[in-house]
Amino acid sequence: MSETATDASSDKMRQVFHWRNGVAWLVLAFALLVQLALLHHLERKEERAALKQFDLLVQTTTETIRKRMVDHEQILLGAAGMFDGSDEVTRDQWRNYNERLQLSERYPGIQGVGFAKTVPQAELATHVQSVRAEGLSDYDVAPPGNRDLYTPIVYLEPFNERNRAAFGYDMFAEPIRRQAMLTAAETGETQITGKVTLRQEIYREVQAGILMYAPLYTPGEPLDTPAQRLDALYGFVFSPFRLDDLMRGILGVNANLNLHIYAGESESVEQMLYASREGEATEEPKYSQVAKLQLYGQTWTLRLESRPAFDQFFHSNKSLIVGLGTGLSALLFFLTLSLSMRRSRAESLAQQMTEHILENKRALQLSEERLSLALKGSNDGLWDLNLDIGTFYASPRAWHMLGYRPGELSSDLKLWERVMVAEDLPKARAQLARTMLSKVDHFTAELRLQHKSGKVTPVLVRGYIQRDRSGQPLRISGTSMDLTEHKRIEQMKDEFVSTVSHELRTPLTSISGALGLITAGALGESPPAIQQMLEIAHRNSLRLGYLINDLLDMEKITAGKMTFDMREHSLRRLLDEALISNQAFAAHYGVNCILREPANVNVWVDGLRLQQVLTNFLSNAIKYTPEGGEVTLHCSQPDGGHVRISVTDQGPGIPPTFQTRVFEKFAQADASDSRQKGGTGLGLAITKEFIERMGGRVGFDTAEGNGTTFWCELPIVETATLTPDQGQPRLLVIEDEPDTGRLLHLMLRDAGYAVDRVQSLHAARGKLAGTRYEAMTLDMHLPDGSGRDLIDEVRNNLDTRNLPIIVISAASQFDRHPDDRNIAWLHKPISAAQLLIALTDSLESNRHPS
Ligand code: ADP
Repeated sequence: MSETATDASSDKMRQVFHWRNGVAWLVLAFALLVQLALLHHLERKEERAALKQFDLLVQTTTETIRKRMVDHEQILLGAAGMFDGSDEVTRDQWRNYNERLQLSERYPGIQGVGFAKTVPQAELATHVQSVRAEGLSDYDVAPPGNRDLYTPIVYLEPFNERNRAAFGYDMFAEPIRRQAMLTAAETGETQITGKVTLRQEIYREVQAGILMYAPLYTPGEPLDTPAQRLDALYGFVFSPFRLDDLMRGILGVNANLNLHIYAGESESVEQMLYASREGEATEEPKYSQVAKLQLYGQTWTLRLESRPAFDQFFHSNKSLIVGLGTGLSALLFFLTLSLSMRRSRAESLAQQMTEHILENKRALQLSEERLSLALKGSNDGLWDLNLDIGTFYASPRAWHMLGYRPGELSSDLKLWERVMVAEDLPKARAQLARTMLSKVDHFTAELRLQHKSGKVTPVLVRGYIQRDRSGQPLRISGTSMDLTEHKRIEQMKDEFVSTVSHELRTPLTSISGALGLITAGALGESPPAIQQMLEIAHRNSLRLGYLINDLLDMEKITAGKMTFDMREHSLRRLLDEALISNQAFAAHYGVNCILREPANVNVWVDGLRLQQVLTNFLSNAIKYTPEGGEVTLHCSQPDGGHVRISVTDQGPGIPPTFQTRVFEKFAQADASDSRQKGGTGLGLAITKEFIERMGGRVGFDTAEGNGTTFWCELPIVETATLTPDQGQPRLLVIEDEPDTGRLLHLMLRDAGYAVDRVQSLHAARGKLAGTRYEAMTLDMHLPDGSGRDLIDEVRNNLDTRNLPIIVISAASQFDRHPDDRNIAWLHKPISAAQLLIALTDSLESNRHPS
């Protein structure tokens, strides 16, 4: 089980990698390439945007620093303005100015704003004295030593702990400060120093520091040259800055950038003024830029580097895009793969179907070949009548049989009627209608068809009827066999038999007649030995006579030359006669022959032929019943319209193997029968033919060792006038089918007519000759002829020429003639309403002929 599952899945895998699915792989490759290209494009776009943003960030940062330094210069220049505007600025004024500026709130990072006064060596002591006189007794100028010029810090606000440490400090004594101060003094421009350590760094966390100086000159002094400016120098207003505090004050906390500031052109560690420390970057920065900032006589080198937050902001959705893209590519791949696999499945299915069709075609060809060869071999024609779509097909052989080329006659559903011998048509139509209405699906009919040359061609037609669910015929197909040759041989044979029989009968009659006379002693006594021989000769000459008679009967039947004199007979009388004429034969065999429950009915038969049938049944029964046994002749009525005449014996019964052949010609259960019992094997075959010709049927019931009952059933003739005449209009119903006859009778009687009913042309003629009728109903197919003959006779008779006739027929088409007058045509089955309307119309038009 699991092995099959593994097989199936590896089979699936093989299918996925099959070259037919190459297109799916191409789609996948293409989709991935497109994804790569898109990604690349996006990355470049992001890169550009990030670079631009980074540039902007660098610019704003640099610009912000620069602007803040300008602001600081403004503060210094404001303070300088105070000195320019008055002779002296007191310590309190200085403090006020600074407090008004709210430096620590507005400009965080500034350490303070101070004033340093130029003091020549000669005035140093006085200067110290004057400051101390202000109550700042610990004031002194530092560092100590003799110098030409001192610039001690006199004011420094806010005067806090740190700034107090710088109080009195001579900044001129320190070279870096001194240089900036000198340049500022000489140029009159604000200057800042390089990297210094401020005097204020009295605690452990030392930051890099710078100072900004704006020079102050004694008012009214010439300031045109550097020398003049140096001479007029009064002091400096200045601001010390701790760089970390300053930058934090300017830039705040920046998550996107790392900033390093170096004093000077290079990025030397000694000259580093500031390094941002927020979350030190661990990896290499993605973007990095160096900017130079020219500030008040100094060049600052700024190194700006992007931090991970910045990088992530611009490249954050990459993995999402990769994921989505790969998902989409996979989806496309599977879609195409499924389509392609489905297509290959459809292709293989189509191939299978094509092979199947080809196979079917070959099989069909083979079957057609076989059929055509079989038909060729049998020399039969083939035909196919499709009632459903209204087409008729006949094979070339079927056409040749009648002397036509295929297509010479237009093929339609009624073609068969046109090639039929005209006089057989009504019967054939009726027969066909019966077959169609019945449930049978096979039929065989011998038809007489009209050859193109005019001669009549006998054809055996065998067909199969295809029906729908309701039993309606849809299609009739079959074969046709030309019987001309067959008939010719049969006729020759029959003629031979007939001639031989006739020729034999004449001398045989003389022989058996003469022998009869001799054995009866008409010529005197013969010696016993001779007498015995003569009796044997006489018996066998009689047997030969019977045989010849049977042979002649059979020949007549098959040649259709046998005529039946059909009349109404009392069955009782016929049975009595049969019993009487077989009594001697029974006595000879020592068998008791009796008649029981004879039916008191009339039958429509040829009396002599029925006698022949009964004699055959009785003689067989007598022959096979042991001596002392009994043979019974009795009647029963299986239905209202028929009577069954049975002959029951006490013989050995009929062996099962023989039962199917009992009614065949020359059939005998045991060939020795003919010698033992005397017989030809033709009796029952003739019996069957006779009974069927008279509209009945035969059969037998047997049980081995328990006797046999042979029977025949015949239609009962209804007694003619059923309705007593009470002055109603009288009608004649001519109908051989008992049930229909009874039905018509009832319908008409209920409608108030007196009805006479007959079952044959013969009886109808008798009734018409003796009674005056208002109208008659007529079945066209009667046991003794066609209704058409009666119509002609009625119309040719002066008394009945205007008699309204209602034809009631089972045939699908009526045999109408152009000069038919006052005939209504009704199809079976009919309703009472139909019948009465037709009748009233006929009577009406007879009364008022147009
Ligand atoms: P046959 O002239 O030989 O009697 P039939 O056609 O009358 O010819 O009968 C055919 C055969 O049917 C007989 O030879 C016999 O074998 C069988 N047969 C007919 N009637 C009976 C019967 N009553 N009991 C047994 N067998 C019968």
